[in-house]
Formats: sequence, structure tokens, C-alpha cells
Amino acid sequence: MSTSTVYAETGEFAVNDLAAGSEGTPDQKRFTPVQRPELAYTPEVAAATAEAYEKVKDFIPAIEWAALAPLVFAINKLKKERNAVILAHNYMTPDIFHGVADIVGDSLQLAKEAAKTEAEVIVQCGVHFMAETSKILSPEKTILIPDMNAGCSLAESITGEDVRKLREDNPGVPIITYVNTSADVKAECDICCTSSNAVQVVEAMGTDKVLLIPDQYLAANVNNQTDVDVLTYAGSCEVHERFTAEELREYRDIDPDVKIIAHPECPPEVVAEADFAGSTSHMIDWVKDNSPEKVMMITECSMADNVAASTPGVNYIRPCNLCPHMKRITLTKILDCLVDMSGEVIVDEGVADRARAAVERMINLKN
Ligand code: SF4
Repeated sequence: MSTSTVYAETGEFAVNDLAAGSEGTPDQKRFTPVQRPELAYTPEVAAATAEAYEKVKDFIPAIEWAALAPLVFAINKLKKERNAVILAHNYMTPDIFHGVADIVGDSLQLAKEAAKTEAEVIVQCGVHFMAETSKILSPEKTILIPDMNAGCSLAESITGEDVRKLREDNPGVPIITYVNTSADVKAECDICCTSSNAVQVVEAMGTDKVLLIPDQYLAANVNNQTDVDVLTYAGSCEVHERFTAEELREYRDIDPDVKIIAHPECPPEVVAEADFAGSTSHMIDWVKDNSPEKVMMITECSMADNVAASTPGVNYIRPCNLCPHMKRITLTKILDCLVDMSGEVIVDEGVADRARAAVERMINLKN
């Protein structure tokens, strides 16, 4: 008997049956074992999560939704009791993005929205530097991250001490940090930037030379768009640096009609092959504005799944590079951290004050 048949016949399908019962099918084995008796796929859960499922049904089979929906239901109930909001980065899996998130977007959008919310608790579904940025901008709020080990190859490529050394070696050169860095690094820099506004921030420094750290590829792409001499550091994103120009040319040879849009954390030769390059939020805007028949997003795998629900008629071709750090965040861990109020992110006050100054200088830049 299939699980969907069980639901149809009895009106209730206990997720625990999969964890504690038979060995199950390969599909069933993929489910996270759930030990809580309250997490059952009841008609109430099915009805409450139907709208979310409508958005993800192309990526999540019904049998898998039967295991995820009780978690979605429990999280949405508990977050109200905790006066919490859930922030989800564009790279979260669709069950999180469409099922439990209150605010979605890129890292800075999330932090800015977090500062505006009246909620006392923020659950940051993303990586650690994002949770730190939320704490920096909302020091009075409790910031939780469902997995403390959700790191980032880019953020971990540089420390505050490295920045102090760079400053000694480059006296008088403004240091701009990409937001994908720790609070310690932000605290040592003059100003932050995002992939959306990096060129604007570089030019706003009013110098003929700047240091833009730590992403060597973002810096190289910005350098190609400005007369300012952009120096950099040896950091990179392990997801975006894996794409190659040759791979993009091969995709185009197979399908000349496909539109290719790339994130500026990709190497410059990859960006040069793309029809458009921009931050995750700019990529979404580009697809909505241009409604291409077929588009390939050269960025983390979940982006296309998450955007697809709001761009009907666009066919996404998915060259899949997953971020292992982002994928540490799961519905089970989100529920656990809300139940236990665990995974609180703390930033030293002095560091937070200096890091906030760097973030706010960017936010306050005139357009
Ligand atoms: S996608 Fe790249 S920059 Fe983003 S969290 Fe993962 S490793 Fe870091």
C-alpha cells in the first residue's frame, strides 16, 4: 500500500510510521526520521499547508510532502507563539522558502527587513554571517540560526586580523567588504557592499584605488565596470567559482535560445558569457522583467526552484551547484531551534557597533 493510499483510506498518515516502521521504499528512506507523535499528516495539516504545496509541487513529490507538511504546520504554529519571524535566503530549499519563511531575499534585504520587524525572535535560515548581520542591525532581538555550523567559504577566507594587515600594507586605501563576511571583518572595514551596489560603493569612495574584499571574482567583475583600480583578496565562493565559461558555451551550443544569467561571484570569463549578471535579487527582477522562454541561472541550485513559482511560463534549465552550508538548514532543525530556543547568535557589542557603522555607511549612501 502506498503512503498516499494510506492517507486516502484512513484520513491520517503518521510520519512516525516511516521512522519506526518498515524499512520503506527508497523515497521513504530519504525522509528525516521524525520522532514526535504530534507530527502527523492529518487533514488539518494538509489543508493548512495546501497553499504552500501548490508552489512547490513541481519539485516535491506528494509522498515527500506528507513528511514535510507536519513540520511546516508545527513551525508556523510555534513561530506565532514565540513572536518570531523566519528569514529565508534565496538559496533555501523550496519547502523552507515557500512553507515557513516570512521574509525572503538576499542577505542584506533580509537583515534590513529584520531590523524593521516588531518580532522579538528572528530565525535566520541562511548561513552564520547572515545571522550576525541581523544581530548587528537588530541588537535587541534574539537571533537564532538552526545550525551553528552553517558557514561560508567566502566569509571564512578572511579574518579581522587579515584586514588590519591589509590596512598596514595599503595606507590610505579605503577597504570595502562584501557583506559575506564575519562581524569581525566588517568591524575593521570602512564600508560594506553587496553584489548589487558594489560598483556604486567603489565609486563613492572618491579615490583612484580601493580594496574590495574578500571575493576576488566580485572584485574583478567590478574592476571591469569602473575606472577605479580595484585591489582584492584571495577569497572565493566555492559554489560560484565552479562554473566555467566552457560549460556555458556548451549549454548555448545545445540550446542557442537559452538566456544565461550569472551571479557576479562567478569568475569574470563566466560573467562575460552571460546575457546578464547581477545579485540574486537582480536576477529575479531580470527574469520578471524579461520573461524569457528559457533561462539558466548560474548560481546556487535552489534559486531557480524558488523563483519558478512566481514566474509562470518561464522554463528553468538547472546547472546544479549546491551550497553545502546553506543546505545544513532543514525544517527539522528550524523546528528544533524554535522549540528549544537554541542556536542564539551573539556578537560582541564593541565589534557590533563598529560593524554596524560599516553596514550603515553603505545603507546611507545616496543613489
Ligand atoms: S553560496 Fe557561496 S557565498 Fe553563499 S553561503 Fe554558500 S559558499 Fe558562501
